[in-house]
Amino acid sequence: MASPAAARTLLSGQESIRDWQESLYKDLHRNPELSHHEQRTAGIVAEQLAGFGFEVHSGVGGTGVVGVLANGEGPGVLVRADMDALPVAEATGLDYASTAVAPDGQGAQTPVMHACGHDVHISTLLGAARLFAQQRQAWAGTLVALFQPAEELGDGAKGMVRDGLARLIPRPDVALAQHVLAHPAGTVSTYSGPFLSMADSIRITLHGRGSHGSMPHLSVDPAVLAAMVVVRLQAVVSREVSPGEFAVLTVGKIAVGAKSNIIDDHAVLELNIRTYSKATRDQLLAAIERIAKAESAASGSPRDPQIELYNSYPLTDNDPEATARVAAAFAEHFPATAIQDYGRQTASEDFSDIPAALGVPYTYWAIGGADPEAYRAAQAAGRIATDIPSNHSPKFAPAIQPTLATGTAAIVVAAAAWLGKD
Ligand code: ZN
Ligand code: ZN
Repeated sequence: MASPAAARTLLSGQESIRDWQESLYKDLHRNPELSHHEQRTAGIVAEQLAGFGFEVHSGVGGTGVVGVLANGEGPGVLVRADMDALPVAEATGLDYASTAVAPDGQGAQTPVMHACGHDVHISTLLGAARLFAQQRQAWAGTLVALFQPAEELGDGAKGMVRDGLARLIPRPDVALAQHVLAHPAGTVSTYSGPFLSMADSIRITLHGRGSHGSMPHLSVDPAVLAAMVVVRLQAVVSREVSPGEFAVLTVGKIAVGAKSNIIDDHAVLELNIRTYSKATRDQLLAAIERIAKAESAASGSPRDPQIELYNSYPLTDNDPEATARVAAAFAEHFPATAIQDYGRQTASEDFSDIPAALGVPYTYWAIGGADPEAYRAAQAAGRIATDIPSNHSPKFAPAIQPTLATGTAAIVVAAAAWLGKD
């Protein structure tokens, strides 16, 4: 049952944690870590949770951390935050901007930035955890605060599941998560049903026959073959998928050749697809395979292409009942102007791997992070796409407030809809 009184009591301590939370956020932002390398971040999270009185499990699925706060008989709520940053060179100009670099796995160094706002997720979940720990008389049940690695690779949640997450925690009644997006800070948005798309990456290796650049008649040119495949793939969404059905097919990478006078013997394409239904996903995958094989045959390729699927993300399909409960709690707590409809997002997430493994319903909502005035000005000028940096942009810079306060309140209000005592 939604419990606005309990949420109000829990949030009465929010002002007192503000300075701590803002400096925690700046520290995390200044010290981002790449997927599966979130050691420093995980150390901070574990230390904070232990300080609040949570039972802490570290090193779950690599760098994952789970905190459990049991507070008597009652429901269980799991709230998840992701911890990883991206190989992006920060260009925000903020005084707490990242200058971090890290090994890229191929022998070079890469700049690192919290360009997806996962530092907001960590700070708001730790803030909410602290508030729940401070006001135990306002609620009953068990709060699980879960911090996962490697959301950006799509395998961090699965890694925690494989490492025995279900045995470490009491089975919750619901799982919750949020993401900061480039919408006005201070706003929240829920969505019932399929919210974030499935995503898959596909690597196609096309085979040709190498030759001297002056003797094309002796070759099967993989550059020409790759170009044909790329063009043909553009017709899959436009000509094969039903007009009302959502699908994205992007060829993000083409790699072929070394030098102008050499015809290479193979080409590699990397594709990314986004879908909301399994049938459409299967249709896209089948079309990709058909086109790669048929164009290879048309070019006289010596063998069939290799097609590998990697970085697959599940559908985020919000449970209607859990979503309605959170939406009702948000409506009671936030002013009407703070509740906005962002609509479905074509981004993808691996969060749902956790509730799927635990067999519990879930809902995932979005909070705004963009400076509200800058957003309004951009909107009035019709310049949102150019003036408001989105997630993964080197200029993505959530306004610290009211983003942290709103994100913390959203978690507290949503979790109290199950845990709150009247
Ligand atoms: Zn991201
Ligand atoms: Zn993200």
